[in-house]
Formats: sequence, C-alpha cells, structure tokens
Amino acid sequence: MPLTKTLIEQFEAQLGKGAVLWRPEDLTLYEYDGGVDKARPAAVVFPRTTEDVVFIVLKAREARVPIVGRGAGTGLSGGSIPRDNGVVISFSRMNRILEIDIENERAIVQPGVVNLDVTQAVKSYGYFYAPDPSSARACTIGGNVAENAGGPHTLAYGVTTNHVVSLEAVLPDGSVMRLGRKELDLPGYDLTGLLTGSEGTMALVTEIGLRLMRQPEAVKTMLAVYGAAECAGDTVGELTARSLLPVAVEMLDGPMLRMVEEATHAGYPMDAAAVLLIEVEGLKEEVEEQTAQIDKVCLHCGATEFRIAKTEEERALLWKGRKNAFGAIGRITPTYYVQDGVVPRTQIAPTLKAIAAIGERRGIAISNIFHAGDGNMHPIIPFDPRKEGDLRNAQLAGEEILDFCISVGGSITGEHGVGMEKMELMAHQFDDDSLDMIRRIKMAFDPHCSLNPGKVLPTGKGCLEIRQPAKMEL
Ligand SMILES: Cc1cc2nc3c(=O)[nH]c(=O)nc-3n(C[C@H](O)[C@H](O)[C@H](O)COP(=O)(O)OP(=O)(O)OC[C@H]3O[C@@H](n4cnc5c(N)ncnc54)[C@H](O)[C@@H]3O)c2cc1C
Repeated sequence: MPLTKTLIEQFEAQLGKGAVLWRPEDLTLYEYDGGVDKARPAAVVFPRTTEDVVFIVLKAREARVPIVGRGAGTGLSGGSIPRDNGVVISFSRMNRILEIDIENERAIVQPGVVNLDVTQAVKSYGYFYAPDPSSARACTIGGNVAENAGGPHTLAYGVTTNHVVSLEAVLPDGSVMRLGRKELDLPGYDLTGLLTGSEGTMALVTEIGLRLMRQPEAVKTMLAVYGAAECAGDTVGELTARSLLPVAVEMLDGPMLRMVEEATHAGYPMDAAAVLLIEVEGLKEEVEEQTAQIDKVCLHCGATEFRIAKTEEERALLWKGRKNAFGAIGRITPTYYVQDGVVPRTQIAPTLKAIAAIGERRGIAISNIFHAGDGNMHPIIPFDPRKEGDLRNAQLAGEEILDFCISVGGSITGEHGVGMEKMELMAHQFDDDSLDMIRRIKMAFDPHCSLNPGKVLPTGKGCLEIRQPAKMEL
C-alpha cells in the first residue's frame, strides 16, 4: 500500500527528488537482504546528514509509519527489511570518514562507510580496523554496529562492540543522543554497548567513533589439512588448552573446500575432509615460536599436512579462498540458507556430526565453513526455491541445528543477528522473564514501537501489538 502523497512530498522537499524512492519498480531491490526473508517497503529515503534523519523520523512518526535503517543490505536475518510496509532509511549516502586521529588511535565515521574502507584509509599510518566480517568489502559500519558484527579475527580482537568508543544516534522521538567519547571509561551505564548489537530496534546510528589498531610486526598464515573433520574440530580445543592464541582459526569442511578451490584456485587440497586456516600475529620471534607449536598441535590431533604461507602472495591466496567462499557456493546451488549457531569450542566435533546427521535425515547436502576459533558455526543449507517445501525443509534443518547448539551450551546466533529470521527461536534460548526484560529495554527507547517493529522478540512477546495503524493513502 502506498504512503500518503503528502509524506512523500515532504521527504522530497527536504532530501531532493533523487533521494526518495516510492515507485514499486524502484523498491524491488530493497525487498530483501542477504537472507531468505522478503518484504517490500513503502518508500526508501537517502539522508545525507543527521538533520535529515531527524526530519524523516519526525515526519514518519506524525504519519505513524514504521521506519527501518539499512546499510548495505548484506545482513542475513532480515534486519533491514520492513515487516510492516515501512519507510526504509538507507544510510548509503552518509558514507564519509569524518576524522582520522592517529595520535588517539580513533576514527569518526558516518554509518554508511564500508567496513574495509576504514582499514584502507588508515593503512598508510600502520593501522587497521579490526572487526573484519567476510562481507567487509560491502557491509557498512552502521550495519556492523547494529549487528555487533564479527569476523575471522574476532578470536583475538573481539567483535564490533570492543571497537566502538562513541555513537551519535537518533531516537524514534527525533531526539539526538551522543554517547561515549574518544577516551574510554566514561561514568554511567554503557549505552554505547547496549546500542551495539540492538539490530536497529532502539535508535538510528548517525555517527560512530572507532578504535584503530596498530598493524602487527609479523603475521603468519597456515593451512592444516585433515582426513577427518572431527580431528580439525578437536584441534581448536587443543590449541586453547595449550594456551596458544591464534588471531584467526577458520574451518572449511571437504565439500566446501572443493567448491572453493574450483572457484578460487587458492591451493586448497581437493581430497581432504577438512582444513583449518590459522593465523598468528605479533612480534617476529613470538610468531615463529607460536607457528612451530601450532604445527605440533595440528599433527598431534591428526593433521595429515601442515603448510605455512611463505610469501605475502601465498598468504593472500589462502585468505582469498576463505573470503570468497560464499560466492563459490553458487557453483552448486543458486540459493542457500546460511545458519549461524555458536557452540563451545570443545563441542565443534559433535556439532559437525549432528549437522551431518540432520542433513542426511532431511536429504540435504549441508557443507560447513566457519569461525572455528569462536565455535561460530555456519552450516550452508542449499535449497531450490522452485521446489515446493524445499525452503521450509532447509529452515527446519537450520532450526534443528540451532536447537542442538543450545543443547550443548551455545546460542542461536553468533554474528548474523536475530532479525525476523530467528525471532521465534528466541523463546528456545531465553525464558519469559528474560524476554520481557528485553522488551522493556526496547520500549524504553521506542515506546510506540515505530523503529524496526516485529523483529528480535517472538510473536506475542514483543511490542508489535501496541502499534497504531499507519495513515496510508486516502
Ligand atoms: C557473504 C557474506 C558474508 C558475511 N560474513 C559475515 C561475518 O563474517 N561476520 C558477520 O558478523 N556478519 C557477516 N555477514 C552478515 C552481514 O554482512 C553483517 O551482519 C553486517 O554487519 C551487515 O551490514 P550491512 O551494512 O549490510 O547492514 P544491513 O544488512 O543493511 O542491516 C543490518 C541491520 O542493521 C540495521 N542498521 C543498518 N544501518 C543502521 C544504522 N545506521 N542505525 C541503526 N541500525 C542500522 C538494519 O536495520 C538491520 O537491522 C555476512 C554476510 C554475507 C552476505
């Protein structure tokens, strides 16, 4: 249903005609993100400043129209899709790096800045921005903040929340909140931490202060090859047990590494059951010492081969395989569903077995590529949208996998968020009292349930029920 003409005209008057999309053919691109859910917004608007965002929020509020923030739309849980015919605020034109302050190791950016661009901008000073989602070439810092994004190097550096020092955010009533500063340890509640990971349901982030990290003196990347996936899983726990802390431990199982190798020619073995891609960083001597010890642990746990990248080119090639894996999956299936459960490291091997059993029972060839160091599993579940029931079968397989993750002490999401994809599963993870507290915190920020409604909390336990219907076309 279209929005009232007045609202569109008001948006166009403030932002310019080219900054408001409302014709159905222009909205198609904004119906989906990287996940499997789909819904069309009523309009998409492109602010350039915080004042623009405040204007949009106030006008949408008057018209009782829900609003949803959007970065690059690479999210995998339907977070940036309006459930209820809302206005999408795309931050793609708020994409400036406002300040680089090397002396204080900080950068101030607008939310639409692409993740990798931060590292590119500070590289020549010997610095980098640590959170490195595999989607880093496309996803935005605003989206990363909303999802508390992680990546291969999360293992050593932590997730987005560990690298956000300040936020400017617009609340659903149009007020602008400034949280945190360049220096750490401000008094009071950690609202910056609360908003990071709030999935765009409490406030719209319009400016972000980031922590920059100094590039390490030395880096080594290794590939351990296994004849059994369980042995690769066991290696991860063993590395920690021996106090070794690589900065990244990524795992690809046999089917996945064959797909990746065919697509990227990264040099992965075609006949292995699994590989671990391991990276260490630090002082030169420390890195040499750790590499030798990791070699021993991998062989002890059953690795059949242990390779060390000798040059920067070899290192880049090994990572090329990992970073381009999602594209490589397109070689065997046009559509897939990627899951995001977390388990304790010691449960990786049993979880891989459980995933294989679920796949076998449901007749799905599930492959795995994941942040093994964090126990953050990403089973890839192919489906054919043209076959009736195929997507549902894939989703049920995903649910069974996540229930298994919960049963071994894990969680339903590591980094992709709950969004609309996993909101019902929140009731598997949390009891009613905990869900109610989450709802009350959301409503302290958004009492009228106008910001990204119908996400995160299960049906009947969120705030959707109190929403007043929007004033639509007369
Ligand atoms: C191939 C691939 C690989 C991926 N690998 C990883 C990975 O390694 N680690 C990881 O964590 N994720 C990964 N993801 C998921 C995704 O890239 C991240 O969740 C990312 O943070 C989303 O950023 P985005 O800019 O695309 O946000 P979007 O998808 O546009 O939005 C995500 C959420 O953020 C909210 N939002 C966006 N901007 C704002 C804002 N300014 N203020 C308030 N809310 C806002 C939206 O409302 C939505 O709820 C991957 C996705 C793909 C497709």
